[in-house]
Amino acid sequence: MTAWDIKGWCPGALRPMLSGDGLVTRIRPPMGRLTPAQAGAIAQAAQSHGNGIIDLSARANLQLRGVTEASHGPLIDDLHAQGLIDPDIATESLRNLIVTPFRDGETEAGERKFFGRKILADTDTLAAALTAALSRMPRLPGKFGFALDTGPRPVLTQASADIRVERAADGTLILRPEGHPLGQLLTDLGRDAIAMASWFVANGGVTNGRGRMAALIARGIIPPGCTTAPAAPLPTPAPGLHPDGALVALAFGQMRAETLHALAALGHEIRPTPWRMLLIVGATEMPAIPGLITDPTDPILRITACTGAPGCPQALGDTRNLARQLAPHLPAGRTLHLSGCAKGCAHPGPADLTLTATGQGHDLIRNGTAHDAPSLTGLTPQAILDHLKAPDAPQL
Ligand code: SF4
Repeated sequence: MTAWDIKGWCPGALRPMLSGDGLVTRIRPPMGRLTPAQAGAIAQAAQSHGNGIIDLSARANLQLRGVTEASHGPLIDDLHAQGLIDPDIATESLRNLIVTPFRDGETEAGERKFFGRKILADTDTLAAALTAALSRMPRLPGKFGFALDTGPRPVLTQASADIRVERAADGTLILRPEGHPLGQLLTDLGRDAIAMASWFVANGGVTNGRGRMAALIARGIIPPGCTTAPAAPLPTPAPGLHPDGALVALAFGQMRAETLHALAALGHEIRPTPWRMLLIVGATEMPAIPGLITDPTDPILRITACTGAPGCPQALGDTRNLARQLAPHLPAGRTLHLSGCAKGCAHPGPADLTLTATGQGHDLIRNGTAHDAPSLTGLTPQAILDHLKAPDAPQL
């Protein structure tokens, strides 16, 4: 057990999580999409029942901040009217499903164009089948999740999931356990996904209610029939126009309700992504809305920063204000992770540079995580800036 509090579950709308600025209320968009009316209602709810700040999570969910015990009930009523609330906490907790935002052009003609024969089921049909199967899953850990990554090549490889639906190079659907390079050929998505989840439980994947597929695979325990490789994954997309629409980014995955109101007013479906970006489906030009990043070279895109102080009660210092100060001075091509404590929630993996708040300034870690051994300790914001600005800066 580490010094910080590790929670074995993810917050939802019906079961929010208490944070430094109130209840964090997470909305899991059904099938990974929001109608303009739903997006507008979420923006209105953030203003009426929260503090107007909306986060986009690493699992492509939206979370409202600053909700109070008194405002939570009316918030749920408003979201329920838009079809955004599950019937109960158990159903909500099971719906850990990330769906690829890129799913247009999945017509039969598109299928044949991609692969020369009809081998695809469209992503919405698959998402509905997997959603329906969730209620028949065995009891799974709270963070256990699924990724429906069914474009011609995977795009969700970096997103957190335990069981992935992907395509082989010839377009055949496979079910791949996280951590293993090969997957099983899929015959019936619901039945096969339940079988793999049941295998996970039966083979010791769960201890004290917790466990992840990658940890089980790392112990050399592999599901049967995993013989097919997925197609080569695509890199994380950048903001810009894509065949499915306009992809816009949010600094640190956060926006104000006014930004979501303006997006909803465009009248397009919105698909949240796990990349701190929203896909504005069918848009043919980049929207000019305050609070959106549309320039793929914006250095903020290379910075990850958790909530930090004062939003997180465990934070030992500020993160995002400092990140905005540092962004213009971040060396080209380098990534920076600012963490409010050693837990490193926003970026569990290594970054080129990591600054971890300690209560006595920030520690600097090179090519490591928020809790790796630092190269420099006790840095003030000014000292960090001076390092970055110096022409002969030791690249921090
Ligand atoms: S890493 Fe950031 S968000 Fe996570 S507990 Fe620490 S301060 Fe809070």
